[in-house]
Amino acid sequence: LEEGARSCLLRFRLKLEEDIKPTYLMDHMISDGVMTVDEEERIRTQDQAGALIELLLRKDNLTYISFYNALVKEAYDDLASLLHRDLPHISLNPHKGSSDVQSRLSEGGIPQRPVVFVNRPELVNRAREKLYRLQKDPGWITVFGMAGSGKSVLAAEAVRDHGIIEDCFPGGVHWLSIGQVDKPDLLVKVQSLCFRLEQSLDSQLLHRPPNSLDEAKERLRFLMLRRYPRSLLILDDIWDSTVLKVFDIHCRVLLTTRNRSLTDSVSGAKHEVEVESGLDENKALEILALYTRIKLQALPEEARSIVKECKGSPLVVSLIGALLREKPNRWRYYLRQLQMKQFKRIRKSSSYDYDALDQAMAASIEVLPDEHRDLYKDLTVLQKDVKIPAKVLSVLWDLEPEEVEDILEEFVNKSLLFMDNNSKPYLYYLHDLQIDFLLEQNRTQLEVSLQHYRDGPPTSGDKESLYWIQYLTYHMAKANLTQELYSLMFSLNWVITKAKIMGPAHLINDYVEYGFILDQENSEVRSQFQEFLSLNGHQLEQRPFPDVVQLALSQPPNSEVYKQARVQAQNRTKAG
Ligand code: ADP
Repeated sequence: LEEGARSCLLRFRLKLEEDIKPTYLMDHMISDGVMTVDEEERIRTQDQAGALIELLLRKDNLTYISFYNALVKEAYDDLASLLHRDLPHISLNPHKGSSDVQSRLSEGGIPQRPVVFVNRPELVNRAREKLYRLQKDPGWITVFGMAGSGKSVLAAEAVRDHGIIEDCFPGGVHWLSIGQVDKPDLLVKVQSLCFRLEQSLDSQLLHRPPNSLDEAKERLRFLMLRRYPRSLLILDDIWDSTVLKVFDIHCRVLLTTRNRSLTDSVSGAKHEVEVESGLDENKALEILALYTRIKLQALPEEARSIVKECKGSPLVVSLIGALLREKPNRWRYYLRQLQMKQFKRIRKSSSYDYDALDQAMAASIEVLPDEHRDLYKDLTVLQKDVKIPAKVLSVLWDLEPEEVEDILEEFVNKSLLFMDNNSKPYLYYLHDLQIDFLLEQNRTQLEVSLQHYRDGPPTSGDKESLYWIQYLTYHMAKANLTQELYSLMFSLNWVITKAKIMGPAHLINDYVEYGFILDQENSEVRSQFQEFLSLNGHQLEQRPFPDVVQLALSQPPNSEVYKQARVQAQNRTKAG
């Protein structure tokens, strides 16, 4: 029923209920074919007038018109004139009745399009094609992809179609946002869904809310089977397959998730739609153009760089677009923020539930089991645009190849990692934004471990410190912590610590590997350290470990190595 007509009925409900005698009116309506004998029977046995209005509220525009005509025929002229103003227009071709679809979608809680919206026709068609598979039979459609790739927007768009609603889901579509929930949260959400479904059926029959998830499941089963056959439930942002158990009631479900394999544990037919992580360049530019109200061709050159930098991520492009709408002079600034991975400054747009991109990313990582989370963080070693086989990770993680395979599969399924299966063996890679995010996270962790190191170099062989001693230089170089890298590697203490634990080869390798960075600070000092190590390498392999300060004192007196050794020697003398 159209909104105007519905509100008119509600407004004059009391007056209608007082004045009409439904029996005669219903005869007309039955002969118009908008009401069944069963329905008439039910209304006759209930509180008549009230029940008839209830029925009208649930029915369509034609029923409303038939009711109006019946009022005219039965000489309720006053009442008829009240309803006249809001008589719906019936289009000759009901398939064009888009306002009807619109109202059914908003009744079902389907979110509107974002303020700035671009079409992804190929993707939407793929989703609709899957929805048609649910026309005859119940089943599941998993829409999966990484954070901010546009899954929710796609889900809403896919059902925004007259044909889909009419042909596949005449019982309606109902949206439920889930997110990361525990059991009590989930119960509240399912309760509210039941309430919504029951209320639009019959506001007079108020059930008490289901008390437990089991009870909620039974209630939902009844509602979906009996009251809303051939309807679609859209479950947005699912993290955990236990949530799906509640909806495992032989109905039609579309879910959005970052985790591809959630429906493994439920029964029924299953379909998948993969959402690519980025928009193609022109679509992404279109978003920026729409936000900033600049013509596509007239966008500044930074626009292209922004799109490139985030690989067309709809979330990031929209976040930046929204910021630029407010501050149109900041193209260069936001591009720099993005290049410098200042995600925290790229603040939320109200349509997205995560405070900022980094939180969206962090959320995906937080749900990993502890031991896998640390392994995931090790993936910082992956370079941008470089794909690697599982074997490399098996070395890095020091795990059996089979175990590595399982872990990688988990990451891929959770959209934390990408797999290229066009080659054998399969190759794995991270999205640029994921690499940046990991580096950013690691930087914080680096600062913490540097602090530890300054407080007193680790001498114990615990795993954590071994890891850091091995990789500290590497991570610093990757995170562009050049100042820290200089002061670490131009320090005799560091040489002593790392040589003692890792041996000289590692250390020499560091000076060779990061020479190009160190040379920017001081190429002489770099070669002094390198020379010292090459000359004394065999000594540093000896156990008991030699007195490095003594060895260093035999370097040329103008070398940095010598100077530091002398300070230490003097300190020793002072300390007695
Ligand atoms: P996901 O569900 O994959 O995390 P969303 O569907 O919530 O991602 O999309 C994240 C943000 O990206 C949206 O808030 C919106 O700003 C933007 N976005 C996604 N798809 C589109 C689109 N087709 N057109 C314009 N913006 C989009």
